[in-house]
Amino acid sequence: MKIKINISSDILIKPIIAESILETGVLLNISQAHFDRSRGEVVADVADDKFDLMCKSLTNKGARVSKLDTPIKWDENECVECGACISVCPTKVFSLDADFSLLVDEAKCIQCGTCVDMCPHKALSLGNNNK
Ligand code: SF4
Ligand code: SF4
Repeated sequence: MKIKINISSDILIKPIIAESILETGVLLNISQAHFDRSRGEVVADVADDKFDLMCKSLTNKGARVSKLDTPIKWDENECVECGACISVCPTKVFSLDADFSLLVDEAKCIQCGTCVDMCPHKALSLGNNNK
């Protein structure tokens, strides 16, 4: 499953993800990472049956961990296939088929919310972030 790990400024300099991997023996496949002076945010895949173990280890080190299990919802009836969502999505959820119809691969969604804000027809929504 996809998870998001939020790291606050007070623990930014600590290698908590590496420590948790070593401590638990659970592998993380990191697909996105953003760090600045005030916070860190990492999106990763972890085996479903290892989530609790990894979550506990990271949480004990001060991180906040959430499951990304409510991906983007696309209302096909509202979509006008303008393509705005294609260019803004960081994980390439959207594409066009040979007939220029929108294709949506929800499994790639990391729930960043960017496309929800960009869609001019309110055809996109997230269930967990009030968007
Ligand atoms: S931005 Fe909205 S209306 Fe435009 S293609 Fe994407 S889902 Fe459809
Ligand atoms: S919420 Fe973010 S990752 Fe998910 S489809 Fe929209 S832009 Fe892509």
